[in-house]
Amino acid sequence: MAAYPESFRQRNITRPLLKWVRSVLPGMSETEREALAAGSIWFDAELMRGDPDFSRLLDMPVHRLSDEEQAFLVGPVEELCRRIDDWQMTFTERDIPREIWDFVRKEGFLGLIIPKEYGGKGFSATANSEIVMKIASRGPSAAVTVIVPNSLGPGELLVLFGTDRQKNYWLPRLADGRDIPAFALTSLDAGSDAAAMTDYGVVAWGEIDGKKTLGMRVNWSKRYISLGPICTVLGLAFKLSDPDRLLGGEEDLGITVALIPAATKGVEIGRRHYPGMQAFPNGPTTGTDVFVPMDWIIGGQARIGQGWRMLVTALAAGRGVMLPAMSVAGMKVAAFSTGAYARIREQFNLPVSRFEGVQEAVARIASDTYRLDAARRLTLAALDSGEKPAVITAIMKYHATEAMRRATNDAMDVHSGKAVIDGPRNYLSSAYRAIPIAITVEGANIMTRSLMIYGQGSIRCHPFIQEEIAAAQMRDDDAAVEAFDAVLYRHAAYAFMTLVRAAWRGWTFGLLSRSPVAGREARHYRQIKRLSAALAIVSEAAIITMGGALKRKEMISARLGDMLSELYLACASLKRFADTGRPAEDWPLCDHAVRVSLNAADQALKDVLDNFPMRLVGWYLRLKIQPFGVVCGKPRDRLTQKISDTICEPSGARDRLTEGIYVADDIELGRLDHAFRLIAELEPVKAVMRKARVRSLDEAKKQGLITGNEAARLAEAMELVREVSKVDDFAPEELTGKKPAISKRKGKAA
Ligand SMILES: Cc1cc2nc3c(=O)[nH]c(=O)nc-3n(C[C@H](O)[C@H](O)[C@H](O)COP(=O)(O)OP(=O)(O)OC[C@H]3O[C@@H](n4cnc5c(N)ncnc54)[C@H](O)[C@@H]3O)c2cc1C
Repeated sequence: MAAYPESFRQRNITRPLLKWVRSVLPGMSETEREALAAGSIWFDAELMRGDPDFSRLLDMPVHRLSDEEQAFLVGPVEELCRRIDDWQMTFTERDIPREIWDFVRKEGFLGLIIPKEYGGKGFSATANSEIVMKIASRGPSAAVTVIVPNSLGPGELLVLFGTDRQKNYWLPRLADGRDIPAFALTSLDAGSDAAAMTDYGVVAWGEIDGKKTLGMRVNWSKRYISLGPICTVLGLAFKLSDPDRLLGGEEDLGITVALIPAATKGVEIGRRHYPGMQAFPNGPTTGTDVFVPMDWIIGGQARIGQGWRMLVTALAAGRGVMLPAMSVAGMKVAAFSTGAYARIREQFNLPVSRFEGVQEAVARIASDTYRLDAARRLTLAALDSGEKPAVITAIMKYHATEAMRRATNDAMDVHSGKAVIDGPRNYLSSAYRAIPIAITVEGANIMTRSLMIYGQGSIRCHPFIQEEIAAAQMRDDDAAVEAFDAVLYRHAAYAFMTLVRAAWRGWTFGLLSRSPVAGREARHYRQIKRLSAALAIVSEAAIITMGGALKRKEMISARLGDMLSELYLACASLKRFADTGRPAEDWPLCDHAVRVSLNAADQALKDVLDNFPMRLVGWYLRLKIQPFGVVCGKPRDRLTQKISDTICEPSGARDRLTEGIYVADDIELGRLDHAFRLIAELEPVKAVMRKARVRSLDEAKKQGLITGNEAARLAEAMELVREVSKVDDFAPEELTGKKPAISKRKGKAA
């Protein structure tokens, strides 16, 4: 019975609507519910609700590294980078050399996220990102050795959920590398749908040191486990049941996470996969009837069945740190090397950077590097201020890894043969091979884009939907009507306001919206406002017309997620420009980056409306909010050429764009940079020769076009260019490890 008599409105509108909502409500598993509850919402909510408050964004302070973090970066990190030889690891040894492991352990790289009181570094997310970015710029495998212990895994789970005893025992051992952790979630049948794992544990009595102990008999067969083959302690997720009711409760207890020393009887580790020809250890593990006492469960017995919640909570923030750092490192290396190489490499008597086709590829790299690095910084600032924005970290995971893939492909294309031939001189191919790993782990990208970004964003960022779902799920019908009624009309008012706002901004090209700043940035802020309002109302329409079916309409939800992501990237680029003091030289990069994002968002809006399942609704919305089609065009060719030039010539903007990667005189990138700077400096001399169509230095000297000194410097520069343009070759037995099958002289099988 309702506490008060039902009103006319409740009886005739709210009740039927509630009935309808219940019929379209998506079925949600417990694991999905837990994923939705993990982490927090942040600026994503501003963008999803249609009227972002930019002051919230612009006022957010940039996170500065502490003196200790800074010292670590210029000390141990630089030294580690100096010692890394990616070719030796991936080709010769196919393993991480012992000296690297020793150094990494000794200097505390394995405990970056472990609090100081447990012997770790307790560094900020920003510092961890800078550290991984620099190491990854020397090679992906070495970076993985640092990434795995410092992202989702035993260390983080212990910090967040461990008992005091577990923390006191394990964290100091993980921090100083006495123990090497791995985390095993994925199994043969359970990849993206990890919660479907068949690995199981049964509550049982066993014996530890001759004492009868309550615990679990656990069996598993996991695969793809990073550091698994060498770990000394395994974080393991499995489904626990208690058929004999030894704990006195239910039979199915749910996903549980325990820390199991690798030396425990029944645990098998050691065999290796060979992912993307990378050297870091990765492999399967099995466990047969392993007895695990209750106090090995992370967080103790009280945390039985909470494994999934623990994992998604850790992932909500963690996804925004390590993989984006690794991806941005790949992009910065691509920008740094491609700009330089395109400038020094000449074909048809011109630097290839002068060809428009090459400029397009170089500009894509530069622009993507600017916006993804901007988003990396912004997300880190949010994490360091205590936010755990689950939707934004999913955006970062997807877009940073995809942008790294684009940038590396473009870099390979521009370098052509130089990037194809493997060997120690090749600074791109190892990253190229590692990209699919980053795309696959921590939520494979197709699923992250199609399901997670918008799937979570639409519900979590909506001001009313969660309340409505809660009301609809109430068992007591009258209470449900009352609760639903309380939110429904606020929702209706919000939807109406959103429609009016989106239509107004659509018909006025967004030009009359307010911008937080004046000048050239203002038009971009206005377009963000226009597209944000459009996103809010289309999202509203999609939810109302499709309800739970929207979950299966992944092409629609992926595009709505793209809109949200691109708006976030545009905001991040503008914020970066403001935070760095608006250097005029950087404006073309920022301008291009924002235009790319806005064009992608506008195009995604058009694609959603073109494909809206209820055609009438699609047409109506198009008329209201995108009456003139895609108004945010792609960047103009002149701007594209300008930003290509920005990274193909020495400049402050180029230095700022690529800062944070490891470059030294004795590595290929350093030699490339040296040749690049010298060639750029001698451009006036080269221009004179080019104009006179003279290629030979002697001839130029003879004709008095250049001085003897200029000729000597140019000869030195050209020698450097020849040197860095070289690729490796090998004796056949170096590659095969045996005598050649075909004899050299006779051309016969040897
Ligand atoms: C090198 C490497 C290291 C790894 N390290 C670890 C580790 O340390 N610990 C660990 O536990 N795991 C680890 N993994 C496992 C990794 O997390 C999984 O590979 C990942 O979850 C994807 O699972 P899968 O490969 O089985 O792909 P599948 O789940 O088989 O997916 C196949 C395709 O379907 C797509 N897809 C699936 N569901 C949906 C959906 N609902 N909507 C749209 N698309 C969908 C996916 O995006 C993917 O493109 C590692 C994997 C690799 C390759």
